[in-house]
Amino acid sequence: MSEEKIVVGNKGLIRAEFNFWVGQYMDRFYDNLEKRKIVGNKCPKCGDVFVPPRKICGKCNGILPLEKGWIDLPDTGTVTNFTITSYRVNDRSSRKAKPQIIAMIQINGSNTAIIYRLLDIAPEEIKVGMKVKIEWNDKTKGDPSDIKGFVKA
Ligand SMILES: [Zn+2]
Repeated sequence: MSEEKIVVGNKGLIRAEFNFWVGQYMDRFYDNLEKRKIVGNKCPKCGDVFVPPRKICGKCNGILPLEKGWIDLPDTGTVTNFTITSYRVNDRSSRKAKPQIIAMIQINGSNTAIIYRLLDIAPEEIKVGMKVKIEWNDKTKGDPSDIKGFVKA
């Protein structure tokens, strides 16, 4: 009769640090986020504006050139959809006592939506179509966390 032996046992999580390059389009987007600015890029063929920027238009498949078509956008937008959750986005094992609202927000002047938390808005107040604006982090570093979330405009 064989006996199973545990040679090495680790309980808990293993942390792995890594870096990856986001590409030229997102690089420009994050450089602007660091300056607390939102930029999008406009499809030369159909005119749709993307936030975050992209290389191929999701509507007409046109190519959005890196050299031109960049537009400055405001830090305001509209809630297009939302969900209320008690779980943290990146840690599904722990519940938070206070539910948080995760929303899809269409930055004014763009045709797409980005996903962020809504801050200081009660779950019963939230509505599709609500006007919101960015709450920037005190310290920006050129990544998605530069936007802390969105608050009522
Ligand atoms: Zn297009």
